[in-house]
Amino acid sequence: MSSTPILEARQSQIHHKGRDPFEMTCDKHSLAGSVSQRACVFCGSRVVLYPIADALHLIHGPIGCAAYTWDIRGALSSGPELHRMSFSTDLRETDVIFGGEKKLAAALGELIDVYQPRAAFVYSTCIVGIIGDDVAAVCRKVGEAKGIPVLPVHSEGFKGTKKDGYKAACDALFKLVGTGATEDIGPVSINILGEFNIAGEAWLIKKYYERMGVQVVSIMTGDGRVDQLARSHGATLNVVQCSGALTFLAEMMKETYGIPYIRASYFGIDDMAKALYDVAEQFGDHPDVMVRSREIVRSEVDAIMPEINRLKADLSGKRAAIYVGGAFKAFSLIKALRYLGMNVVLVGSQTGNQSDYATLRDMCEDGTIILDDANPLELSRYIIEKKVDLFIGGVKERPIAYKMGIGFCDHNHERKIPLAGFAGMLAFAREVHTSATSPVWQFAPARRFQGPEHCRSGVAGGLLCCSPCDGVIPGALALEL
Ligand code: SF4
Repeated sequence: MSSTPILEARQSQIHHKGRDPFEMTCDKHSLAGSVSQRACVFCGSRVVLYPIADALHLIHGPIGCAAYTWDIRGALSSGPELHRMSFSTDLRETDVIFGGEKKLAAALGELIDVYQPRAAFVYSTCIVGIIGDDVAAVCRKVGEAKGIPVLPVHSEGFKGTKKDGYKAACDALFKLVGTGATEDIGPVSINILGEFNIAGEAWLIKKYYERMGVQVVSIMTGDGRVDQLARSHGATLNVVQCSGALTFLAEMMKETYGIPYIRASYFGIDDMAKALYDVAEQFGDHPDVMVRSREIVRSEVDAIMPEINRLKADLSGKRAAIYVGGAFKAFSLIKALRYLGMNVVLVGSQTGNQSDYATLRDMCEDGTIILDDANPLELSRYIIEKKVDLFIGGVKERPIAYKMGIGFCDHNHERKIPLAGFAGMLAFAREVHTSATSPVWQFAPARRFQGPEHCRSGVAGGLLCCSPCDGVIPGALALEL
């Protein structure tokens, strides 16, 4: 029986593998009061479109929305870096009362004149949805006047979940697709969807495909360029990584341009190899592509395995927790951690659907906790309950791990080392090893205090002590709070 108290309305979004029948609720709005780890609709759009480096990104709303998402992906560009500027119309009280359309038109006109972007994305935030500015009309007018695509992104923060933001971004992207020339695109060609070039990962993946003899027409959206997106309808195949974010676009391109799509993941040895083989299989009438993909896998795996095996010796038996945006990444992480001999005892996502969670259930051992749309309290309490050694997540999970006194690996926007591809698997193993085996955690108050059950299940989730033991446990120092 779990000692972790859960809000009643959250119970159906948490599954204890091996204990409960599998009836997980998901794909619903976050529960008010549960302080969800989820981002808003606007943020969902922003993370998808942000890496398009030669576009103007203008946030129509209060300055806080822009600050919240400034440089959000950390996505690298091999050329222009206009994406790293976070422009905002900075709506104030008078704009809210009298409308912000004039301010938006003026800001757009000025920014386009100064920065000469190839396209502009205009993001609607909550307040814009409330006051009812006609953002699409302003975009159309400015676009005609300036001669570039000016695309509204209908991403009012309150109108759904982060997933609705992905959809709004895909709707905007789809307006660019089909507007460029495709004459020089060959039959063995792909678009890479859902790869955002965090720490240069898109470059790594692109190189593998090019070594196989596959032409990469566009990457959506890592190191993205408007012209590449515009001609992406000329590719033969779409390869979708971040399924939650870009599947909407892949579906639209399939319907309109007849381009099939496959899913892929570039994390971990198995999934990286599978991504290359799956693409090669799609070009079965070019057997040389498969031959080259096998050569790549063989040489890359040979290069990293000796060190991975050394690291595995220290990591075997350690317990890991995973909390990520899309569940598809969690599948790869579970496999990658198994490669390192680690057990996943807690796994969750912000945007998983029924089928994702059923897959996680099938992949995990009995006793694993599976969570949809979790909050810091649940995560921190399960971390204690499951005696987790390493937490893998993003920027909002990092402080939870550190407060709990356990290792952390950023597998989200803030990573500075590429963790995708074969070389990325070695970097991942090194990072996991460094963090999970660091001696520093023994000095963290929460780690020192793994006190009696009556304290661990208390109001403060084990961080405060009660009178029977006064914060003193045998063999440990008193808590200093
Ligand atoms: S919830 Fe609304 S106000 Fe808050 S960041 Fe998102 S769009 Fe802006």
